[in-house]
Amino acid sequence: MRNFFYRISSAAARFMYGRNGGDQLNAALLALYLVLCVLQTLFARFRPLSLLLQLLTLAAAVLVMYRMFSRNLPKRQAENMRFLNWWRPIQIRLNGMKQRRLDKDHKYFTCKNCKTICRVPAGKGKIEITCPKCGQKIMGKS
Ligand SMILES: [Zn+2]
Repeated sequence: MRNFFYRISSAAARFMYGRNGGDQLNAALLALYLVLCVLQTLFARFRPLSLLLQLLTLAAAVLVMYRMFSRNLPKRQAENMRFLNWWRPIQIRLNGMKQRRLDKDHKYFTCKNCKTICRVPAGKGKIEITCPKCGQKIMGKS
């Protein structure tokens, strides 16, 4: 039985050799596919919308397959890079938001002028903050 699994996995490895396989863009497309599956179930009763969702779900699945088995590696890698260039700043912002929510000792204010995030100790009452970057005054409660 082990030999059987070994044969299957080595055949799969041989098949995938020189193909794109999974990258970050494919992981994202797969996540999108799952979200679309859920939406499709949720909106199954709304005819035109559910048809559109079905099409999008199918398109996402086809795209994942196509990119996974593609042999055009430079093109797939370029796509993945474009995706990462778009996604990384979002991911960094999401991580920052999560960290600020977990930080109970500080309050965070965003400068309206230059969008710099200013951190102040929590529990000081009403305060006036001066933005360290542009000098804009921010009024806030900490
Ligand atoms: Zn500022």
